[in-house]
Amino acid sequence: MSTHPPSIPEFSDTEVAALRERYSAERERRVRPDGSAQYRRAEGEFGYYAQDPYADGLTREPLHDHVDAIVLGGGFGGLCAGARLRQAGLERIRIIEKGGDFGGTWYWNRYPGIHCDIESYVYLPLLEEVGYVPEWKYSPGEEIRRHAMAIGRTFDLYRDACFQTGITELRWDDGEWIVLTDRGDEMRATYVVVSNGTLDHPKLPGIPGIESFRGHTFHTSRWDYDYTGGGPDGGLTGLAGKRVAIIGTGATAIQVVPHVARDAEHLHVFQRTPSSVDVRDNRPTDPRWAASLQPGWHAVRRENFQAVVTGLQADEDLVDDAWTASAHVLGKIIATDARAHWDHAEWERAEELLDFEKMNQLRARVAEVVEDPATAELLKPWYRYGCKRPTFSDEYLGAFNRSNVTLVDTADHGGVERFTESSVVVGGREYEVDCVIFATGFEVGKSDVMTGRLPVRGREGVRLFDSWRDTGVRTLHGFCSNGFPNLFHLGPLQNAPSVNYVHVLDEQAAHVAAVIAEARRRGTKRVEPSVEAETDWVATIEAGSPERAWFDAECTPGYYNNEGSARPRRTFGPGPAAFQRLLREWRTGDGIDEALGDAS
Ligand code: NDP
Repeated sequence: MSTHPPSIPEFSDTEVAALRERYSAERERRVRPDGSAQYRRAEGEFGYYAQDPYADGLTREPLHDHVDAIVLGGGFGGLCAGARLRQAGLERIRIIEKGGDFGGTWYWNRYPGIHCDIESYVYLPLLEEVGYVPEWKYSPGEEIRRHAMAIGRTFDLYRDACFQTGITELRWDDGEWIVLTDRGDEMRATYVVVSNGTLDHPKLPGIPGIESFRGHTFHTSRWDYDYTGGGPDGGLTGLAGKRVAIIGTGATAIQVVPHVARDAEHLHVFQRTPSSVDVRDNRPTDPRWAASLQPGWHAVRRENFQAVVTGLQADEDLVDDAWTASAHVLGKIIATDARAHWDHAEWERAEELLDFEKMNQLRARVAEVVEDPATAELLKPWYRYGCKRPTFSDEYLGAFNRSNVTLVDTADHGGVERFTESSVVVGGREYEVDCVIFATGFEVGKSDVMTGRLPVRGREGVRLFDSWRDTGVRTLHGFCSNGFPNLFHLGPLQNAPSVNYVHVLDEQAAHVAAVIAEARRRGTKRVEPSVEAETDWVATIEAGSPERAWFDAECTPGYYNNEGSARPRRTFGPGPAAFQRLLREWRTGDGIDEALGDAS
């Protein structure tokens, strides 16, 4: 595979101008002056949208003990941290999780149709360690949740875990962290790893009258099977005779709609921006292939996927799916140095034409599948690939051929306008429904640490939020900060994200565990970067980032571009593979000596 784009399609200047103009006009139709403020957090009077429908009432005595490490969050990031710390020899590892079990987003999201949209053989972490090969190329949510629990068992992480528990404060005190929780715990830990996710809190649109609707409502991430009947595989018998509204057409709705369409008397899908919907082609795992896998296969496949989607040299494309087939148009959403030797303007031009071609194919797919031309027209996405999270389904578009499914386009009204006691209103027209399902997504990138909702006090009681508010985020490699010893962050902060986010998290967890293991080997009590090391890293990140700001600025609004008010995404310019290499070199060079300081 070459780093040069595949053969460049031909578009006349008139066609290019027309597409650019259409994209710009479609963006302007949707940009709202209130940006992210259009949403409301599911809390307070709307707190029931975020309640846990799965956990039993738990009572336990508060804990006042000391453990080696506390990990905040029991999703895949936290589980990878727990597993890698266990491999590094730590004895007492306590994962603290708000949900009733491990799984994170896969614990909360159990809606009908839920599947992973990255190939499961590269998405699921620790497959060889657990001894598991997924049953499907794209796993259903239940299989993923079971795997999360299997990691917990394999690495003995249930022993010290605290579920249904929220951390309320982290405080550095005389060489260790005091961790306070909403269950009255006051635990102590030598190390704290924060991995509380980027999509962890459901959000609702601030639609007027939402509270006056008298029918049934819930958010997709807290699916109400008591009301709908059935399960993640469908069979929603409770929806027989019901008129249902789904609000939103993002990656979640794409998976939900076919099931609700099958079982409701009538389904109204309220769309503001259509998703790009590519081929899925899911299939069961070939047992002969699974049996043929050699030790080390998982790392090889993950790295191959990462190389292909970031446009790096790869001899073959092992995953070979709609993600990898789109690698040539992913360059603007994943930082990479794959095109460093190309003339910038030449590459931009080539990528734009390839993007037009890709999106034309996806629009043609809509026209092929959807029988009613007016509906098909509304379902066509008019923006560049990756402005919105790409989606994949072989069933979603076809659902609109059913006589009991109506697409309601809300683009000219800024979304659904309002609710009455019994209806959803768009363009002055009332759509009477019995049930409203919010597929309206999550607060993104606003972890409680970043917003200051979770106070983190470091040396001399300094609050992390205050120190970052004054200076901007300051970290070394995105993991740790001066003044906050032995505290590590996993996630997209100042490092190198990619399409396969769990792979990124696992690499991060392995790095943090390796640093902690080395600190323990040396008898060093504090892992803390110097101010100079932080400053250098912030400069590296700043230098690598702004390139994509133009893309965000031209995109249709969404959470990828802060609802249309683009701001540069601060990531490591050369990309994830280069970042992982840099970390390995740092661990074996002088960098780690400096971060581990003296052995006092
Ligand atoms: P999104 O934020 O992607 O989608 C929310 C939807 O709600 C959008 O279509 C949005 O429209 C719509 N919306 C919001 N407000 C209104 C309104 N007032 N009126 C009408 N429509 C409105 O959330 P999702 O839950 O779909 O996906 C979130 C993320 O979760 C994904 O991007 C992906 O990262 C992840 N995911 C991953 C999956 C996987 O398999 N790995 C599966 C599902 C989700 P608009 O676009 O115009 O703002």
